[in-house]
Amino acid sequence: MSDLTIRNLHVSIAGKEIVKGLNLTIPQGEVHAIMGPNGTGKSTLAYTLMGHPSYEVTEGEVLFGDTNILGLSPDARSRIGIFLAFQYPVSIPGVTVANFLRSAVNARRRAENPEDKGIPIPEFRKLLKEKMAYLKMDPAFAGRYLNEGFSGGEKKRAEILQMAMLKPGIAILDETDSGLDIDALRIVSEGVNALRGPDLGVLVITHYQRILNYIKPDVVHVMMDGRIVESGDAELALHLEEHGYEWVRERLENGA
Ligand code: ADP
Ligand code: MG
Ligand code: MG
Repeated sequence: MSDLTIRNLHVSIAGKEIVKGLNLTIPQGEVHAIMGPNGTGKSTLAYTLMGHPSYEVTEGEVLFGDTNILGLSPDARSRIGIFLAFQYPVSIPGVTVANFLRSAVNARRRAENPEDKGIPIPEFRKLLKEKMAYLKMDPAFAGRYLNEGFSGGEKKRAEILQMAMLKPGIAILDETDSGLDIDALRIVSEGVNALRGPDLGVLVITHYQRILNYIKPDVVHVMMDGRIVESGDAELALHLEEHGYEWVRERLENGA
């Protein structure tokens, strides 16, 4: 089983503690959402899971299956099946979407078998064609240069296609501050829903409830002041949308 288990995680940026003893388990096959007010540390958590060097883990552990990932580079995390949607936000001149995906698939194969010679090109083309058809994407998209002149929606399309090709065990999507337009929101939601299944865990991090109308989470968590302070089902997200976060804060302050 490749559950993601976060235990007593503490993270500091520039000497200031932002994540303060966070506990969270995402069983393989489940879709979880983290919601929370701005500045509460949601993106810090996402960057920490990705292995960003500015985020210092001072305590706790993050297990993917039985592997403690905190000592692994971002690349190594990706190779063992942790997918972070914003891992390659840069444009790479001269590298097409297809070429980029082939390198990513090959890196993943070599993590499983160091002797692997890489996916044969006809097999790769067939796989890419299948996934693009499944996600209802125009085949011409694979020939575009990665992120060069991409709209917000096209960047999301490239990410979702990457996710489909890599078949990660867990996908972490931090959609909070990017202000996804309706087109991008639809692409992400439809993609995640199409790829949902018993082998894929998903963590959707968001400030707004809107995306959760499209991606129905199994569990919703509220993050406040660097911790998970409340968990519930999809109804919790609707409740937060209507009533805001104040009631959660009051409950915390009253020591509930
Ligand atoms: P959220 O995603 O929940 O809005 P963030 O994780 O972006 O919250 O930010 C949490 C806190 O950490 C904020 O107080 C923010 O100002 C601070 N912070 C985030 N990134 C940095 C950084 N690179 N350097 C210093 N402080 C940061
Ligand atoms: Mg923010
Ligand atoms: Mg954020």
